[in-house]
Amino acid sequence: MATSDGYAKTFRRLDSLDAAQSVLYGGPTVVVPPKHLMASDSEHISNHSNMTKTHHEEEVSDDFALAFDIDGVLIKGGKPIPAAVDAMKYINGENPYGVKVPYIFLTNGGGKTEKERCLDLSRQLDLEVDPGQFICGHTPMRDMAEKYHTVLVVGGEGEKCRIVAEGYGFKDVITPGDIIKTRHDTTPFRTLTDEELENSRLLDLDNLRIEAIFVFADSRDWAGDQQIILDCLMTKDGWLNTRSETFQEGPPVFFSHTDVVWSTSHEHSRLGMGALRASLEAVYGALTGKDLNTIAFGKPQIGTYKFATRLLQKWRSDSCGINKPPSTVYFIGDTPESDIRGTNEFNETTDNDWFSILVKTGVYQDGTVPRYPPRKTCENVFEAVKFAIEREHNKPCKGSTVSELNDDTSQKVREVAK
Ligand SMILES: [Mg+2]
Repeated sequence: MATSDGYAKTFRRLDSLDAAQSVLYGGPTVVVPPKHLMASDSEHISNHSNMTKTHHEEEVSDDFALAFDIDGVLIKGGKPIPAAVDAMKYINGENPYGVKVPYIFLTNGGGKTEKERCLDLSRQLDLEVDPGQFICGHTPMRDMAEKYHTVLVVGGEGEKCRIVAEGYGFKDVITPGDIIKTRHDTTPFRTLTDEELENSRLLDLDNLRIEAIFVFADSRDWAGDQQIILDCLMTKDGWLNTRSETFQEGPPVFFSHTDVVWSTSHEHSRLGMGALRASLEAVYGALTGKDLNTIAFGKPQIGTYKFATRLLQKWRSDSCGINKPPSTVYFIGDTPESDIRGTNEFNETTDNDWFSILVKTGVYQDGTVPRYPPRKTCENVFEAVKFAIEREHNKPCKGSTVSELNDDTSQKVREVAK
Protein backbone atom coordinates (compact mmCIF):
# COMPACT_ATOMS: atom_id res chain seq x y z
CA MET A 1 0.00 0.00 0.00
CA ALA A 2 1.31 3.41 -0.89
CA THR A 3 -0.40 5.40 1.84
CA SER A 4 0.34 5.22 5.48
CA ASP A 5 -3.12 5.77 6.91
CA GLY A 6 -4.89 2.78 5.43
CA TYR A 7 -6.62 5.08 2.96
CA ALA A 8 -6.87 2.48 0.24
CA LYS A 9 -8.14 -0.17 2.60
CA THR A 10 -11.54 1.44 2.65
CA PHE A 11 -11.86 1.05 -1.09
CA ARG A 12 -14.14 -1.60 -2.49
CA ARG A 13 -13.19 -2.54 -6.00
CA LEU A 14 -16.03 -3.00 -8.45
CA ASP A 15 -14.17 -4.65 -11.27
CA SER A 16 -11.61 -6.71 -9.44
CA LEU A 17 -9.69 -9.42 -11.16
CA ASP A 18 -9.94 -12.01 -8.45
CA ALA A 19 -10.40 -12.43 -4.74
CA ALA A 20 -6.76 -13.25 -4.11
CA GLN A 21 -5.75 -9.85 -5.36
CA SER A 22 -8.19 -8.20 -3.00
CA VAL A 23 -6.31 -9.79 -0.15
CA LEU A 24 -3.01 -8.74 -1.61
CA TYR A 25 -3.96 -5.15 -2.31
CA GLY A 26 -6.95 -4.18 -0.28
CA GLY A 27 -6.74 -5.72 3.18
CA PRO A 28 -9.65 -7.12 5.11
CA THR A 29 -12.24 -4.48 4.28
CA VAL A 30 -11.97 -4.88 0.52
CA VAL A 31 -14.99 -6.69 -0.88
CA VAL A 32 -15.18 -8.11 -4.36
CA PRO A 33 -18.75 -8.00 -5.64
CA PRO A 34 -20.43 -11.10 -7.01
CA LYS A 35 -19.92 -11.63 -10.71
CA HIS A 36 -23.51 -10.83 -11.59
CA LEU A 37 -23.17 -7.35 -10.09
CA MET A 38 -20.14 -6.54 -12.18
CA ALA A 39 -20.54 -4.72 -15.50
CA SER A 40 -19.58 -7.16 -18.18
CA ASP A 41 -21.18 -6.02 -21.41
CA SER A 42 -22.65 -2.97 -23.04
CA GLU A 43 -26.12 -3.81 -21.76
CA HIS A 44 -24.95 -3.23 -18.23
CA ILE A 45 -22.61 -0.35 -18.83
CA SER A 46 -25.36 2.21 -18.28
CA ASN A 47 -26.07 4.02 -15.02
CA HIS A 48 -24.40 2.97 -11.81
CA SER A 49 -22.37 0.16 -13.36
CA ASN A 50 -19.08 1.44 -11.96
CA MET A 51 -20.36 3.27 -8.93
CA THR A 52 -22.90 1.13 -7.14
CA LYS A 53 -22.70 1.51 -3.37
CA THR A 54 -23.70 -1.20 -0.99
CA HIS A 55 -23.66 -1.40 2.78
CA HIS A 56 -21.54 1.35 4.31
CA GLU A 57 -18.37 0.81 2.40
CA GLU A 58 -16.74 3.44 0.29
CA GLU A 59 -16.19 2.56 -3.30
CA VAL A 60 -13.56 3.46 -5.78
CA SER A 61 -14.26 3.92 -9.43
CA ASP A 62 -11.97 1.84 -11.52
CA ASP A 63 -13.22 3.07 -14.87
CA PHE A 64 -12.14 6.68 -14.76
CA ALA A 65 -9.63 8.91 -13.06
CA LEU A 66 -8.86 12.58 -12.57
CA ALA A 67 -5.71 14.59 -13.11
CA PHE A 68 -5.34 18.10 -11.74
CA ASP A 69 -3.18 21.05 -12.55
CA ILE A 70 -2.47 22.95 -9.32
CA ASP A 71 -1.82 26.69 -9.78
CA GLY A 72 -4.97 28.48 -10.88
CA VAL A 73 -7.06 25.34 -10.34
CA LEU A 74 -6.57 24.35 -6.71
CA ILE A 75 -4.15 26.97 -5.37
CA LYS A 76 -3.68 30.67 -6.04
CA GLY A 77 -1.13 32.87 -4.33
CA GLY A 78 -0.26 30.08 -1.91
CA LYS A 79 -3.85 29.70 -0.72
CA PRO A 80 -6.47 27.16 -1.74
CA ILE A 81 -9.14 28.32 -4.17
CA PRO A 82 -12.38 27.90 -2.13
CA ALA A 83 -13.92 25.46 -4.61
CA ALA A 84 -10.84 23.22 -4.33
CA VAL A 85 -11.57 22.00 -0.83
CA ASP A 86 -15.15 21.09 -1.80
CA ALA A 87 -13.90 19.41 -4.96
CA MET A 88 -11.46 17.23 -3.03
CA LYS A 89 -14.16 16.17 -0.57
CA TYR A 90 -16.45 15.39 -3.49
CA ILE A 91 -14.02 13.06 -5.22
CA ASN A 92 -13.13 11.42 -1.92
CA GLY A 93 -16.61 10.07 -1.46
CA GLU A 94 -18.78 13.03 -0.45
CA ASN A 95 -20.92 12.84 -3.58
CA PRO A 96 -24.40 11.45 -4.28
CA TYR A 97 -22.94 8.11 -5.36
CA GLY A 98 -20.55 7.67 -2.45
CA VAL A 99 -17.76 6.91 -4.90
CA LYS A 100 -14.09 7.77 -4.56
CA VAL A 101 -12.20 8.60 -7.71
CA PRO A 102 -8.43 8.00 -8.01
CA TYR A 103 -6.51 11.14 -8.95
CA ILE A 104 -3.07 12.55 -9.58
CA PHE A 105 -1.59 16.04 -9.68
CA LEU A 106 0.35 17.23 -12.69
CA THR A 107 1.86 20.68 -12.26
CA ASN A 108 4.48 22.53 -14.24
CA GLY A 109 5.61 24.23 -11.03
CA GLY A 110 8.61 23.02 -9.08
CA GLY A 111 11.61 24.14 -7.11
CA LYS A 112 11.13 21.76 -4.18
CA THR A 113 11.28 18.02 -3.76
CA GLU A 114 8.10 16.19 -4.63
CA LYS A 115 7.79 15.17 -0.99
CA GLU A 116 8.04 18.77 0.23
CA ARG A 117 5.54 19.96 -2.36
CA CYS A 118 3.10 17.21 -1.34
CA LEU A 119 3.34 18.31 2.30
CA ASP A 120 2.50 21.87 1.23
CA LEU A 121 -0.43 20.67 -0.83
CA SER A 122 -1.68 18.40 1.95
CA ARG A 123 -1.74 21.34 4.33
CA GLN A 124 -3.36 23.69 1.83
CA LEU A 125 -6.09 21.28 0.79
CA ASP A 126 -6.56 19.56 4.13
CA LEU A 127 -6.00 16.07 2.77
CA GLU A 128 -3.13 13.67 2.42
CA VAL A 129 -1.26 13.94 -0.87
CA ASP A 130 1.26 11.21 -1.54
CA PRO A 131 4.39 11.72 -3.72
CA GLY A 132 3.14 8.68 -5.63
CA GLN A 133 0.35 10.79 -7.07
CA PHE A 134 2.37 13.89 -7.87
CA ILE A 135 4.38 15.06 -10.88
CA CYS A 136 5.97 18.48 -11.09
CA GLY A 137 7.74 20.09 -14.02
CA HIS A 138 11.14 18.68 -13.20
CA THR A 139 10.08 15.16 -12.15
CA PRO A 140 10.85 13.64 -15.58
CA MET A 141 14.39 15.09 -15.36
CA ARG A 142 15.06 12.27 -12.92
CA ASP A 143 15.54 10.02 -15.93
CA MET A 144 18.45 12.20 -17.16
CA ALA A 145 20.65 11.59 -14.11
CA GLU A 146 22.11 8.46 -15.70
CA LYS A 147 23.12 10.31 -18.83
CA TYR A 148 24.74 13.49 -17.48
CA HIS A 149 27.34 13.65 -14.72
CA THR A 150 28.20 17.34 -14.25
CA VAL A 151 25.21 19.63 -14.76
CA LEU A 152 24.32 23.28 -14.23
CA VAL A 153 21.05 23.56 -12.32
CA VAL A 154 19.23 26.90 -12.48
CA GLY A 155 16.26 28.41 -10.63
CA GLY A 156 14.40 28.11 -7.37
CA GLU A 157 15.14 29.37 -3.89
CA GLY A 158 18.59 28.99 -2.38
CA GLU A 159 19.97 25.48 -2.55
CA LYS A 160 16.62 23.77 -3.04
CA CYS A 161 17.03 22.81 -6.69
CA ARG A 162 20.54 21.47 -6.07
CA ILE A 163 19.05 19.26 -3.37
CA VAL A 164 16.27 18.12 -5.73
CA ALA A 165 18.79 17.33 -8.49
CA GLU A 166 21.07 15.42 -6.14
CA GLY A 167 18.00 13.53 -4.91
CA TYR A 168 17.33 12.54 -8.52
CA GLY A 169 20.79 11.01 -8.69
CA PHE A 170 22.80 13.72 -10.47
CA LYS A 171 26.37 13.25 -9.27
CA ASP A 172 27.90 16.70 -9.71
CA VAL A 173 25.45 19.59 -9.50
CA ILE A 174 26.74 23.11 -10.17
CA THR A 175 24.65 26.22 -9.49
CA PRO A 176 25.06 29.77 -10.79
CA GLY A 177 25.99 30.69 -7.19
CA ASP A 178 29.03 28.40 -7.39
CA ILE A 179 30.24 30.14 -10.54
CA ILE A 180 29.66 33.64 -9.12
CA LYS A 181 31.40 32.74 -5.86
CA THR A 182 34.40 31.48 -7.84
CA ARG A 183 34.47 34.47 -10.22
CA HIS A 184 32.75 37.58 -8.87
CA ASP A 185 32.97 39.41 -12.20
CA THR A 186 30.82 36.76 -13.94
CA THR A 187 27.73 38.84 -13.10
CA PRO A 188 28.75 42.50 -12.58
CA PHE A 189 25.43 43.51 -11.05
CA ARG A 190 24.75 40.53 -8.84
CA THR A 191 26.26 40.06 -5.42
CA LEU A 192 25.64 36.87 -3.50
CA THR A 193 23.97 37.12 -0.10
CA ASP A 194 25.85 35.86 2.93
CA GLU A 195 23.74 32.71 2.91
CA GLU A 196 24.38 32.14 -0.81
CA LEU A 197 28.09 32.69 -0.28
CA GLU A 198 28.15 30.17 2.51
CA ASN A 199 26.24 27.51 0.56
CA SER A 200 27.95 28.00 -2.80
CA ARG A 201 31.01 25.94 -3.68
CA LEU A 202 34.33 27.01 -5.16
CA LEU A 203 35.06 25.44 -8.54
CA ASP A 204 38.04 24.76 -10.76
CA LEU A 205 36.70 26.64 -13.76
CA ASP A 206 39.70 25.75 -15.93
CA ASN A 207 38.86 22.09 -15.69
CA LEU A 208 35.10 22.11 -15.56
CA ARG A 209 32.84 20.72 -18.24
CA ILE A 210 29.11 21.32 -17.98
CA GLU A 211 27.47 18.41 -19.78
CA ALA A 212 23.92 19.77 -19.65
CA ILE A 213 21.96 22.73 -18.31
CA PHE A 214 18.70 22.18 -16.45
CA VAL A 215 16.32 25.02 -15.58
CA PHE A 216 14.50 23.31 -12.74
CA ALA A 217 12.38 26.21 -11.48
CA ASP A 218 11.76 29.89 -12.08
CA SER A 219 14.91 31.98 -12.01
CA ARG A 220 15.14 34.48 -9.14
CA ASP A 221 17.68 36.53 -11.07
CA TRP A 222 17.10 36.52 -14.79
CA ALA A 223 20.06 38.70 -15.71
CA GLY A 224 22.68 36.72 -13.80
CA ASP A 225 21.25 33.32 -14.66
CA GLN A 226 20.94 34.17 -18.35
CA GLN A 227 24.53 35.40 -18.44
CA ILE A 228 25.77 32.13 -16.97
CA ILE A 229 23.59 29.94 -19.18
CA LEU A 230 24.79 31.88 -22.25
CA ASP A 231 28.42 31.51 -21.15
CA CYS A 232 27.94 27.73 -21.02
CA LEU A 233 26.06 27.57 -24.33
CA MET A 234 28.84 29.45 -26.14
CA THR A 235 31.58 27.05 -25.03
CA LYS A 236 33.14 24.18 -26.92
CA ASP A 237 31.31 21.12 -25.66
CA GLY A 238 30.67 22.62 -22.22
CA TRP A 239 34.31 23.33 -21.22
CA LEU A 240 33.97 26.62 -19.37
CA ASN A 241 37.47 27.84 -20.26
CA THR A 242 36.70 27.70 -24.00
CA ARG A 243 34.63 29.69 -26.44
CA SER A 244 33.14 28.21 -29.58
CA GLU A 245 33.69 29.76 -32.98
CA THR A 246 30.61 28.17 -34.47
CA PHE A 247 28.28 28.60 -31.47
CA GLN A 248 26.78 25.26 -32.28
CA GLU A 249 28.67 22.99 -29.91
CA GLY A 250 27.41 23.98 -26.48
CA PRO A 251 25.70 21.62 -24.05
CA PRO A 252 21.95 20.96 -24.29
CA VAL A 253 19.60 23.10 -22.21
CA PHE A 254 16.46 21.64 -20.68
CA PHE A 255 13.50 23.53 -19.20
CA SER A 256 11.07 21.89 -16.83
CA HIS A 257 8.17 23.56 -18.64
CA THR A 258 7.33 26.27 -21.16
CA ASP A 259 4.53 28.25 -19.51
CA VAL A 260 5.06 31.90 -20.45
CA VAL A 261 2.72 33.06 -17.69
CA TRP A 262 1.16 31.58 -14.58
CA SER A 263 -1.63 32.45 -12.16
CA THR A 264 -0.79 34.06 -8.81
CA SER A 265 -2.61 36.30 -6.33
CA HIS A 266 -1.99 39.24 -8.67
CA GLU A 267 -5.00 40.08 -10.83
CA HIS A 268 -2.93 39.62 -13.99
CA SER A 269 -0.88 36.54 -14.87
CA ARG A 270 2.85 36.78 -14.06
CA LEU A 271 5.85 35.85 -16.22
CA GLY A 272 7.00 32.26 -15.91
CA MET A 273 9.79 30.02 -17.12
CA GLY A 274 8.59 30.06 -20.71
CA ALA A 275 9.27 33.79 -20.78
CA LEU A 276 12.86 33.20 -19.65
CA ARG A 277 13.22 30.59 -22.36
CA ALA A 278 11.94 32.99 -25.04
CA SER A 279 14.28 35.67 -23.75
CA LEU A 280 17.26 33.31 -23.74
CA GLU A 281 16.58 32.18 -27.29
CA ALA A 282 16.28 35.80 -28.44
CA VAL A 283 19.50 36.91 -26.73
CA TYR A 284 21.40 33.88 -28.03
CA GLY A 285 20.26 34.75 -31.54
CA ALA A 286 21.31 38.39 -31.08
CA LEU A 287 24.74 37.41 -29.73
CA THR A 288 25.64 34.59 -32.11
CA GLY A 289 23.35 34.87 -35.12
CA LYS A 290 22.42 31.23 -34.53
CA ASP A 291 19.21 29.58 -33.42
CA LEU A 292 19.16 28.08 -29.97
CA ASN A 293 17.32 24.80 -29.70
CA THR A 294 16.06 24.19 -26.18
CA ILE A 295 14.33 21.10 -24.87
CA ALA A 296 11.31 21.28 -22.61
CA PHE A 297 9.53 18.95 -20.23
CA GLY A 298 6.20 19.59 -18.53
CA LYS A 299 2.81 20.14 -20.10
CA PRO A 300 2.04 20.24 -23.04
CA GLN A 301 4.88 17.83 -23.90
CA ILE A 302 3.58 14.37 -24.77
CA GLY A 303 6.40 12.76 -22.76
CA THR A 304 5.03 14.33 -19.58
CA TYR A 305 1.61 12.82 -20.24
CA LYS A 306 3.20 9.43 -20.86
CA PHE A 307 4.98 9.81 -17.54
CA ALA A 308 1.62 10.74 -15.98
CA THR A 309 0.03 7.64 -17.46
CA ARG A 310 2.67 5.43 -15.82
CA LEU A 311 2.30 7.25 -12.51
CA LEU A 312 -1.48 6.95 -12.60
CA GLN A 313 -1.23 3.25 -13.39
CA LYS A 314 1.10 2.69 -10.45
CA TRP A 315 -0.95 4.87 -8.12
CA ARG A 316 -4.20 3.07 -8.98
CA SER A 317 -2.50 -0.26 -8.48
CA ASP A 318 -0.69 0.61 -5.24
CA SER A 319 -3.50 2.52 -3.55
CA CYS A 320 -6.61 0.82 -4.93
CA GLY A 321 -5.52 -2.53 -6.34
CA ILE A 322 -6.75 -1.57 -9.80
CA ASN A 323 -4.68 -3.23 -12.47
CA LYS A 324 -6.20 -1.96 -15.68
CA PRO A 325 -6.02 1.44 -17.36
CA PRO A 326 -8.94 3.83 -16.86
CA SER A 327 -11.28 4.29 -19.83
CA THR A 328 -11.30 8.03 -19.25
CA VAL A 329 -8.93 10.46 -17.56
CA TYR A 330 -10.37 13.92 -16.94
CA PHE A 331 -7.66 16.56 -16.91
CA ILE A 332 -8.62 19.81 -15.18
CA GLY A 333 -6.44 22.84 -15.89
CA ASP A 334 -6.48 26.63 -16.25
CA THR A 335 -3.96 27.21 -19.05
CA PRO A 336 -5.11 26.45 -22.61
CA GLU A 337 -1.55 26.50 -24.00
CA SER A 338 -0.27 23.79 -21.67
CA ASP A 339 -3.06 21.94 -19.84
CA ILE A 340 -5.62 21.84 -22.62
CA ARG A 341 -3.25 21.59 -25.55
CA GLY A 342 -1.29 18.77 -23.94
CA THR A 343 -4.38 16.82 -22.96
CA ASN A 344 -5.99 17.15 -26.39
CA GLU A 345 -2.82 16.23 -28.26
CA PHE A 346 -2.05 13.30 -25.98
CA ASN A 347 -5.61 12.09 -26.43
CA GLU A 348 -4.92 11.75 -30.15
CA THR A 349 -2.25 9.18 -29.36
CA THR A 350 -3.92 7.03 -26.70
CA ASP A 351 -6.46 4.22 -26.62
CA ASN A 352 -8.22 5.61 -23.58
CA ASP A 353 -9.93 8.99 -23.49
CA TRP A 354 -8.06 11.99 -22.04
CA PHE A 355 -10.80 14.58 -21.58
CA SER A 356 -9.79 18.24 -21.19
CA ILE A 357 -11.65 20.56 -18.82
CA LEU A 358 -10.77 24.26 -18.60
CA VAL A 359 -11.57 26.22 -15.43
CA LYS A 360 -11.98 29.98 -15.16
CA THR A 361 -10.09 30.53 -11.89
CA GLY A 362 -6.59 30.95 -13.32
CA VAL A 363 -4.77 32.02 -16.47
CA TYR A 364 -7.77 31.65 -18.77
CA GLN A 365 -9.95 34.76 -18.76
CA ASP A 366 -13.68 34.29 -19.17
CA GLY A 367 -15.00 35.81 -22.39
CA THR A 368 -11.81 35.20 -24.38
CA VAL A 369 -11.46 32.46 -26.96
CA PRO A 370 -8.88 29.91 -25.79
CA ARG A 371 -6.18 29.18 -28.34
CA TYR A 372 -6.58 25.49 -27.60
CA PRO A 373 -10.27 24.74 -27.01
CA PRO A 374 -11.18 22.36 -24.18
CA ARG A 375 -13.90 19.75 -24.45
CA LYS A 376 -15.62 21.34 -21.48
CA THR A 377 -15.33 24.67 -19.66
CA CYS A 378 -16.37 24.99 -16.00
CA GLU A 379 -16.49 27.90 -13.56
CA ASN A 380 -14.15 26.20 -11.11
CA VAL A 381 -12.71 22.85 -10.08
CA PHE A 382 -15.73 21.86 -7.99
CA GLU A 383 -17.99 22.27 -11.04
CA ALA A 384 -15.44 20.33 -13.06
CA VAL A 385 -15.35 17.26 -10.81
CA LYS A 386 -19.14 17.26 -10.52
CA PHE A 387 -19.33 17.33 -14.31
CA ALA A 388 -16.88 14.42 -14.62
CA ILE A 389 -18.68 12.20 -12.12
CA GLU A 390 -22.09 13.00 -13.61
CA ARG A 391 -20.81 12.29 -17.09
CA GLU A 392 -19.52 8.92 -15.99
CA HIS A 393 -22.72 8.19 -14.14
CA ASN A 394 -24.82 8.98 -17.19
CA LYS A 395 -22.60 7.34 -19.75
CA PRO A 396 -24.79 5.38 -22.14
CA CYS A 397 -21.81 3.65 -23.66
CA LYS A 398 -18.09 4.08 -24.10
CA GLY A 399 -17.32 7.45 -25.66
CA SER A 400 -19.35 10.63 -25.67
CA THR A 401 -22.52 11.26 -23.70
CA VAL A 402 -25.66 12.12 -25.59
CA SER A 403 -25.47 15.80 -24.63
CA GLU A 404 -21.99 16.16 -26.08
CA LEU A 405 -22.83 14.75 -29.49
CA ASN A 406 -24.03 17.02 -32.22
CA ASP A 407 -27.78 17.43 -32.58
CA ASP A 408 -28.30 14.92 -35.39
CA THR A 409 -26.25 12.21 -33.72
CA SER A 410 -27.79 12.71 -30.30
CA GLN A 411 -31.28 12.45 -31.83
CA LYS A 412 -30.34 9.07 -33.33
CA VAL A 413 -28.89 7.91 -30.02
CA ARG A 414 -32.07 8.87 -28.22
CA GLU A 415 -34.18 7.01 -30.77
CA VAL A 416 -32.08 3.88 -30.37
CA ALA A 417 -32.30 4.18 -26.61
CA LYS A 418 -36.11 4.26 -26.65
MG1 LIG B 1 -2.13 26.32 -13.80
